[in-house]
Amino acid sequence: MIINYLLNSGFLIRDEKILLVFDDFEDPAGIVDAAYDKGDFDRLYIFATHAHFDHFSTHIRAYAPKVTRYIFSNDIRRTKRVKIFPTDKITYMKRYSEWQDDLIKVWAYDSTDVGVSFLVQTPSSRIYHAGDFNWWHWENETPEEMALADKAFKKQIKRMDGMEADVAFFPVDGRLGSSQELGAIDFVAQTKVKGFVAMHRVDYPLWEPSQEFLAVAKDIPTWSPIKPGEQRTFDGEKFLED
Ligand SMILES: [Zn+2]
Repeated sequence: MIINYLLNSGFLIRDEKILLVFDDFEDPAGIVDAAYDKGDFDRLYIFATHAHFDHFSTHIRAYAPKVTRYIFSNDIRRTKRVKIFPTDKITYMKRYSEWQDDLIKVWAYDSTDVGVSFLVQTPSSRIYHAGDFNWWHWENETPEEMALADKAFKKQIKRMDGMEADVAFFPVDGRLGSSQELGAIDFVAQTKVKGFVAMHRVDYPLWEPSQEFLAVAKDIPTWSPIKPGEQRTFDGEKFLED
């Protein structure tokens, strides 16, 4: 599986002849354009986890001619921006719904923000993209707000108990300060993922896993992309630089 970082929570994944695009709101390195123009793929699935500007933008409309399916969270249905997309190519997913075609299967999990997170099964791998699902423990919030965020996260993470994925994309948001890894730590402890990619950290430096993270994820390789276009190949054990 070859993975390119676009920006924020945006990624292009090449899984044999399948292209999967997640939360492509901006692609400053032109990664998806280049792959699209090259055209050496059988399927192109474009996912958006929710309508926030930093996850969903109309520029992905341009890929419609070769798109197999747009798979959008249900909240996107109510936006004005989605009206320019061809409706017959869109599947909207609510939390805890499933969708499949002859090649891939998708499960939508709930988020702790807007929209959903996605688990995708292809013929050769499983990919999880959290969207804005995270333990949003903001240090400037009131104790009541913090307690609500904590509870919402704990409730959802329980439903993911034992979830298996080859690669998981999960927020390690620098704005959360010393709490930036809280969600990620619980996530890797509760699930069975083989590789972990940190996301949603624009303008923050490379994330170095802490001892606390390593204590629960010591055998799980991590990748913290910084530069748009950065690429890794995941072989099931390591993120390899080309
Ligand atoms: Zn976001």
